[in-house]
Amino acid sequence: RRLDSRSGLAAGLLGEIQTPICTEPLEHVYEVTGELGRGKFAVVKRCVEKVSGKTFAAKFLRKRRRGRDCRAEVIHEMAVLEMARNNARVVNLHAAYETDHDVVLILEYAAGGEIFDHCVSEELLPEAQIVRLIRQTLEGVHYLHQSNVVHLDLKPQNILLTCLSPPGDIKIVDFGLARRLGAVGELREILGTPEYVAPEILNYEPITTATDLWSVGVIAFMLVTGESPFAGDDKQETYLNVSQVNVDYSGEAFSRVSELAVDFIRKLLVKAPEDRPSAAECMSHPWLWQQQLCLSPGPSSTTTRTVRERSCGTKWAAPPED
Ligand code: ADP
Ligand code: MG
Repeated sequence: RRLDSRSGLAAGLLGEIQTPICTEPLEHVYEVTGELGRGKFAVVKRCVEKVSGKTFAAKFLRKRRRGRDCRAEVIHEMAVLEMARNNARVVNLHAAYETDHDVVLILEYAAGGEIFDHCVSEELLPEAQIVRLIRQTLEGVHYLHQSNVVHLDLKPQNILLTCLSPPGDIKIVDFGLARRLGAVGELREILGTPEYVAPEILNYEPITTATDLWSVGVIAFMLVTGESPFAGDDKQETYLNVSQVNVDYSGEAFSRVSELAVDFIRKLLVKAPEDRPSAAECMSHPWLWQQQLCLSPGPSSTTTRTVRERSCGTKWAAPPED
């Protein structure tokens, strides 16, 4: 179960896994039902473990892609999930199976679907909820970064919820593009979806943990406005918008967004990676802890904090219509 390829190391891939890959037919153990999602090289289906009646998500990963053997990439995805096993913000890997064409990862089922649905819905989540989801996302990202792993594909489609309504806790999924930093030399790759990736990726500059923080900024933007900050009419325009950090905070979409939310997003959507706060630094941003003050009816005094409390009360607590 060892993958000892130098190319894998240089590309920041992890090669060692502990989870046994079962060759017994998956259908003996699980009843595979409806499709949950699909990407370029994977299909995810809901499945029920026959002995326990428990629901899981089965991610079928193709071993051959574009005529190339990609088992190393699949093993890597498993290895990252194993590395993050102790972190509640990362989806749990339950088991793995292998068929002729696929390796199948049996994952903890996130019943609430993608937070993407909350970015495109008519009704956006209240900021109090968004703050909670962003805080949880940062917890997961912080954990990965402490382990020297960057996700590189953080986007609203890869942040799932344990429950839809009320929104549950987040689970980060899809470690197909994740990479280990600093193993051998620098990591430069063109990866991900232009709409969500940082300028340094598009410019083929070195990748660091700051690359993920850009994506957190994009996700926060989308949750509070329901709009994608850099999406252009075509790929070219999107590229240009990202590399020029062409982002507008003054539009109608921001009319009901708190100033602290804007400040949080502004600090992340900056061109120079070294100027972005780390995940740990983000977690102490006032936007993320102010919420608690909002939810508990605080005493009225004359401190700045109380002023903030009041203003967020009117902005976020949906005053009765008059
Ligand atoms: P890809 O690499 O093809 O993007 P993902 O791991 O992102 O694969 O899975 C594709 C989609 O399948 C996700 O965006 C999500 O909608 C769904 N999905 C993935 N994992 C789960 C899970 N554990 N529970 C529920 N749905 C999931
Ligand atoms: Mg995905």
